[in-house]
Amino acid sequence: MRWKETTYSGWGRALDALGKIARPEKVAALNAIMANTPAPAIGNRRSYGDTALNSDGHVTDMTRLDRFLGFNPETGLLEAEAGATIGDILDTFGPQGWMPAVMPGTGFATLGGCIANDVHGKNHQLAGSFGQHVESILLVGASGKPQRISLKRNAPLFRATIGGLGQTGVILTARIHLAKCSAGTMAVQERRMADLDSFMDGFAESNAAYSVGWVDTTASGVDLGRGILEEANFSSGAFAKPRKTRSIPFNVPGFVMGKPLVKLFNKLYLRRLPLDGRDRERSLNDFFFPLDRILNWNRLYGKKGFHQFQCVLPHDTARTQLTKLLEEISNSGLCSPLSVLKQMGAGRGGMMSFPMEGMTLAVDIANKPKSAALLARLNDITLSGKGRVYLAKDSSLDPTHLSGMNPELPAFREVVAKADPDGAFATDQSRRLNLRGTA
Ligand SMILES: Cc1cc2nc3c(=O)[nH]c(=O)nc-3n(C[C@H](O)[C@H](O)[C@H](O)COP(=O)(O)OP(=O)(O)OC[C@H]3O[C@@H](n4cnc5c(N)ncnc54)[C@H](O)[C@@H]3O)c2cc1C
Repeated sequence: MRWKETTYSGWGRALDALGKIARPEKVAALNAIMANTPAPAIGNRRSYGDTALNSDGHVTDMTRLDRFLGFNPETGLLEAEAGATIGDILDTFGPQGWMPAVMPGTGFATLGGCIANDVHGKNHQLAGSFGQHVESILLVGASGKPQRISLKRNAPLFRATIGGLGQTGVILTARIHLAKCSAGTMAVQERRMADLDSFMDGFAESNAAYSVGWVDTTASGVDLGRGILEEANFSSGAFAKPRKTRSIPFNVPGFVMGKPLVKLFNKLYLRRLPLDGRDRERSLNDFFFPLDRILNWNRLYGKKGFHQFQCVLPHDTARTQLTKLLEEISNSGLCSPLSVLKQMGAGRGGMMSFPMEGMTLAVDIANKPKSAALLARLNDITLSGKGRVYLAKDSSLDPTHLSGMNPELPAFREVVAKADPDGAFATDQSRRLNLRGTA
């Protein structure tokens, strides 16, 4: 297999790695890699920080191993290679009445990446996390031997692989239960939320199948936490192919994401919505993957890139801690127009899964000299509120925070130590956070 030495990064582009990448197209080529140079798998690198990086080492890019291997139209059980994307699954099976039960905010995430981060969607309170819809996984360990794992066959390894950040081996294929998809369009209701309290009440009262909030992180004082709540249910329109994509061809200068322009953008974004809200019909692709039409939108943050901070807080601390987080972000001047508030249920599929019943906040933060100090404060506020930081987005967590946020960390470490005793699947993030507990 040919290894290509290159510098590559996560979606945030604030961290990068120099290392060797192979892109096998056939299972035989993957087997050869696993026999000679077992290396962590990566998908489309839609994780933001260093989750999918391995500096001075090797990684196996799984995106060419993307075939659908079997589908039962009666039950919705799909078997696919790990490089198949969520968008492909939606576009292929949506018109047949089936879709992934859980979809992250980008259709470019691969099946392997969605399992390894146990991703959540805009329906987490009802559908739980991605891993809860995985029937079984074909996992290739450091020995190169594939084994099928499920809740019935080796539950500890299965639960350490879901949300396990690739540390147990390479997911070659998976069988997942798709959910019914009753239409090609969503009926979306958008309403203005005056502040954080209204937002949280809006989520609590919502009966919609899907809900998500956009927050104005430049707002402060009585407006703190204001934004737009989107609630959606299936409508009755036909399934449409995704619209044409556009690209941002260059790195945008830093001032564009500076406070004055972001403040102005946010104000206009909020005001474009009538005071009494609006109802509209959107295609599934537009509703679920709103940013995917602009390829390389991560260039908006310039050459230095950005970090994403995402945390979840339990209901009993959410109001106070979200207030503190939003105050810190608003005061820092490092606000971004892309900030999301969502409700979460209790569902989680793996030992290291992110979800927790409560509220989750995700905020992009430009990579500037003062962003490290801000991120450290946001991580501290999360920990003191008994919350958890999402490792798919993380680039800044202190390793000492990890056990306080992840009660199943000791069990995870035990399984990983057995599955990969020589650390073949370690990544920059697992080393930075001492995820495996070996340091
Ligand atoms: C615009 C945008 C919106 C997003 N919205 C959401 C959201 O709503 N909810 C959410 O939960 N996440 C969200 N994410 C994050 C994204 O869904 C996850 O980071 C996902 O894991 C990315 O998948 P990927 O294929 O790009 O994996 P990568 O980023 O390439 O890899 C992620 C991890 O998975 C491991 N991995 C990948 N493939 C395999 C494999 N075959 N076998 C073993 N391990 C593997 C890697 O080692 C790494 O640890 C969003 C990201 C973006 C850019």
